[in-house]
Amino acid sequence: MNKIKNFINGELAAPVSGNYLDNYDPAIGDVYSQVPDSDEQDIDLAVQAAERAFPSWSVTPAQERSNIMMRIADLIDQNLDRLAQAESVDNGKPLRLAKTVDIPRASSNFRFFATAILHFASESHIMEDSAINYTLRKSIGVAGCISPWNLPLYLFTWKIAPAFAAGNCVVGKPSEITPMTAYLLSELCVEAGLPAGVLNIVHGYGPKVGAAMSAHPGIPVMSFTGGTKTGTEISKTASPLFKKLSLEMGGKNPNIIFADCKYEEMMQATLKSSFSNQGQICLCGSRVFIERSLYERFRDDFVERTKTLNVGDPMSEDSDLGAVVSGAHMEKILSYIELAKQEGGTLLCGGNQVKLSGRCKHGWFVEPTVIEGLPHDCRTNQEEIFGPVVTLMPFDTEDEVVKYANSTQYGLSATIWTEDLTRAHRLANQVQSGIIWINCWMLRDLRTPFGGMKNSGLGREGGFEALRFFTEPKNVCVKL
Ligand code: NAD
Repeated sequence: MNKIKNFINGELAAPVSGNYLDNYDPAIGDVYSQVPDSDEQDIDLAVQAAERAFPSWSVTPAQERSNIMMRIADLIDQNLDRLAQAESVDNGKPLRLAKTVDIPRASSNFRFFATAILHFASESHIMEDSAINYTLRKSIGVAGCISPWNLPLYLFTWKIAPAFAAGNCVVGKPSEITPMTAYLLSELCVEAGLPAGVLNIVHGYGPKVGAAMSAHPGIPVMSFTGGTKTGTEISKTASPLFKKLSLEMGGKNPNIIFADCKYEEMMQATLKSSFSNQGQICLCGSRVFIERSLYERFRDDFVERTKTLNVGDPMSEDSDLGAVVSGAHMEKILSYIELAKQEGGTLLCGGNQVKLSGRCKHGWFVEPTVIEGLPHDCRTNQEEIFGPVVTLMPFDTEDEVVKYANSTQYGLSATIWTEDLTRAHRLANQVQSGIIWINCWMLRDLRTPFGGMKNSGLGREGGFEALRFFTEPKNVCVKL
């Protein structure tokens, strides 16, 4: 069986303990490879390698760092099929989605930060004729990057690319549930000529490997994407050590639909924002609010179209939805559907595990599920399910829908559908989300700050914001 390896000091290495965890293919519900069960000893080796590489990498000219990153991006493109296949097997998502979204976006991340670093500038402030202040922005040292399973290579590269573009060395930890693409990336980094120790990847359990990173004094800056509970754990350990933290966490995103919207565009995008990647994108809209005059038409069309979505083998071109990421996650999703029923919700479609035949007969598949009749403040509408489950709710006024939209602990993203421009901007100002899409969904401009409000996030990633995060500003005041 294929054994994944850690990547430390430019070499592929077994975990110090020699222990491995099973890695499952969720579409077949069985083990297909093994992943290192690393611990604090591996983290220590990775930090030492990163610390050794830092003095040289941090003064390597930006153009040279950029060239290496562009080579990594080219190699990702050249290996598109292999990486997409690996991601689909690891994660259960349709191969088509991995090929058209996740892997191309991973190479875009490298290209974006490889070029951004060439244009990164710091500030200066003149105090009339008495002094000049200038701000030096220096790389910090060893950056810890922890990523989740839902968009494995895309979100891993979203962190490590700005970290080492800015001259840091990285200790990265991908999710133990989807480790394969990060492993393949480590091979591509060697091929691209990335110096040993600049990127180190340690695989294993979060509470072991991730927690060792939070506690390690040699990692002064950390970027995390994952659940809000995990973010709290990291913060508890890392904050007393005064680590610089960026936390991208959960969401319960509202879609707000007014009767004057462009109906067909809205309908197609809402289907996507509900069920892409089996609803396992942090930016998926899981609470759909519809202006009452449109409610019945929307509900009937939406349910009819949801019923036509094909849940099937991720390798098949015809599959709209693949498997959810694990058996445990499937049980969690099904338990929330049960809760929705107990809370008085009506299932309009879906609600069950899908039993496929053939190679996927033991896989973890869930029907796309639409529920109505629940109040905005019940648990189903407050807690993150992170699966193909959406609730529909009518509203009468703007004030009412803003109150509903803002009623959760989360504030990651929102979509607003209306042709009334003034109303769209008014709501964008009032809805408490870090990312607002008006008449679109998932359109990403990598230059913009990315992140959530409230319990969805701390800090912002993306664009120069990310390069600023991974550098330490130092002000120099010169008397004239
Ligand atoms: P998770 O929090 O369980 O795991 C994320 C990562 O943290 C994994 O690598 C895991 O091993 C590690 N980890 C777990 N416990 C840890 C600990 N005690 N210390 C340090 N690291 C630890 O999240 P998940 O289930 O992999 O991903 C789903 C969650 O991620 C959802 O809540 C989703 O909304 C969120 N997410 C957020 C964004 C965003 O940009 N805000 C993007 C994608 C996913």
